[in-house]
Amino acid sequence: MKLILLGPPGAGKGTQAKCLVDDFGYAQLSTGDMLRAAVAAGSEMGLKVKDIMDRGDLVPDEVVVGIISERIEQDDCVKGFILDGFPRNGTQAAALDAMLDEKGMKLDSVISLEVIEEDLFGRIEQRAKETVGGPRADDNVEALKKRLKVYHEQPAPLIKYYGDQGVLKTVDGMAEIDAVSAEIKQILADV
Ligand code: AMP
Repeated sequence: MKLILLGPPGAGKGTQAKCLVDDFGYAQLSTGDMLRAAVAAGSEMGLKVKDIMDRGDLVPDEVVVGIISERIEQDDCVKGFILDGFPRNGTQAAALDAMLDEKGMKLDSVISLEVIEEDLFGRIEQRAKETVGGPRADDNVEALKKRLKVYHEQPAPLIKYYGDQGVLKTVDGMAEIDAVSAEIKQILADV
C-alpha cells in the first residue's frame, strides 16, 4: 500500500498515519519528523533547514525529494508506506511520480483530510501541551498562521493533480479519530 495523506497542519495526518502503522505495519514517512530529527541531530541538513522550519516556510524541494527517495527503499517500507507531509506542491508531486516510476512502484491512494481551519489553532495548542520534551518550535500561533498560508498556496494543484489521476478521496477530518480512521480503512480496503 502506497498512500499519501493530504491536509493542513493539525488536520490529523500524523495521528491517522500512526493508526495505519499499528494496524497494518506500514511505515509512516513524515518529512516534518525526519527534518526535525535532522535539526535535533545538528546534521548539515538540519542546520540548513532549521530557520526555514521555525518560520513555517517550506524547505527546498530537492531536500525533501532526496529524503523520500532514499527512505522508500528501506526494508520497513516493503509492506507499504504512508506519506505524511509530502508532497507539498506540484513540483514534489511530479518528482514523487518520477521516483516511483523509476523504482517500479505505484501510488495506490491519496486521501485528503478536510478540516475547518479555525479549529486548527485549538488542536495545535493542545498538541503543543502534549508534546513530550516540549512543544515544537513551529507549534505556535504565528508559525501556524504562516504554515496555513503556505499550505493554501499549494493544495489546489495537488488536489487537481491527484484528482486527474483518479486516486483522490476526501474524508471529514473533523470527525472523531476512530471514525476518521474507520473511513480511511474502508477507502483502502476498496483500492
Ligand atoms: P510538518 O511536521 O509536516 O508540519 O512539517 C513541519 C515543517 O517541516 C514545515 O513547516 C516545513 O518547514 C518542513 N517540511 C515538512 N515537509 C515538507 C515538504 N514536503 N516540503 C517542504 N517543507 C517541508
